[in-house]
Amino acid sequence: MYAEVISTRRLSSHLVRVVLGGAGLDEFEPSTDTDQYVNCFFLPEGAPYAVPFDDDEVRDLSRDQRPFPRRITVRAWDGDRRELTLDIASHGDVGYAGRWAARARPGDRLQLRGPAGGYRPPADADSYLFVGDESALPAIAACAEAVPPGRPVVVVAEVEDGAGEIPLSSPGALEVHWVHRAGRAGDLDGLLAAAVASLPRPDGVVSAFVHGEAEATRAVRRVLLGDRVVDEDQLSCSPYWRRGYDDEAWRTVKAAWTREVAAEPVGPTLSLTNEGTSS
Ligand SMILES: Cc1cc2nc3c(=O)[nH]c(=O)nc-3n(C[C@H](O)[C@H](O)[C@H](O)COP(=O)(O)OP(=O)(O)OC[C@H]3O[C@@H](n4cnc5c(N)ncnc54)[C@H](O)[C@@H]3O)c2cc1C
Repeated sequence: MYAEVISTRRLSSHLVRVVLGGAGLDEFEPSTDTDQYVNCFFLPEGAPYAVPFDDDEVRDLSRDQRPFPRRITVRAWDGDRRELTLDIASHGDVGYAGRWAARARPGDRLQLRGPAGGYRPPADADSYLFVGDESALPAIAACAEAVPPGRPVVVVAEVEDGAGEIPLSSPGALEVHWVHRAGRAGDLDGLLAAAVASLPRPDGVVSAFVHGEAEATRAVRRVLLGDRVVDEDQLSCSPYWRRGYDDEAWRTVKAAWTREVAAEPVGPTLSLTNEGTSS
């Protein structure tokens, strides 16, 4: 399936909103997961084909000529207008997805497949904890909008600096802690984990969604499971991307990395305090 860009706008210093539409989306069937994503296919410069392309047409091309698949969350689906909203991190002059989003103009085409997903805030949790960086903010924003009214929701989100923050809303009792990378070059993997560890320990059943950079999600997982803030079956944790790896390189080691993390013994780590601090 393919879609056409209707509009684009900068949501923040690092996030670009792309609204897609057109007859190509007629077959799009949304799921109810708030982290549902589509597999988008980005064409390399000078590709000898255009969107829409046939899989058979590109299969035998060299690796650098084939489309580059990237998973991007469905930030919103408007069923009446049949429009799909994607928020894509633009992270410098690298990355097929990031550069495409920064340059996208109305009328540009994007081929995609999906959606698929795996998490929606369960209605019976006592509170919610959503943690991640820009790549997970679209899913976090959609999750925050889907909790029961009045239920406590804590978001811990990592962005470059104040210009990377975006408005978040929720029918729940929303508390947002922004964590800034700027000036913290040495210890990026542990930034989110330290912020999560400094939060007050919540009572009752906590449903947690922790997605984003791989080592950062691993560190947050250690805190949440090690300190028994969240039961393993209430934790949705997934490494969306990995620092120093492009998506092709990351996919070659991701399964082994994920097994290694799942096998990690988790014990008490950084203790959660009884007094919260806000970043
Ligand atoms: C299920 C799922 C849903 C996702 N949803 C979204 C989404 O809604 N929006 C979104 O922006 N991303 C999302 N991601 C992450 C996205 O697929 C990856 O970040 C992807 O690597 C970006 O592709 P790229 O072509 O821009 O960069 P690549 O070509 O993969 O990488 C180029 C360089 O940029 C680095 N890099 C990659 N992503 C980032 C980043 N976010 N910040 C800083 N550096 C980065 C890489 O480590 C590499 O050094 C999702 C991933 C998954 C698995």
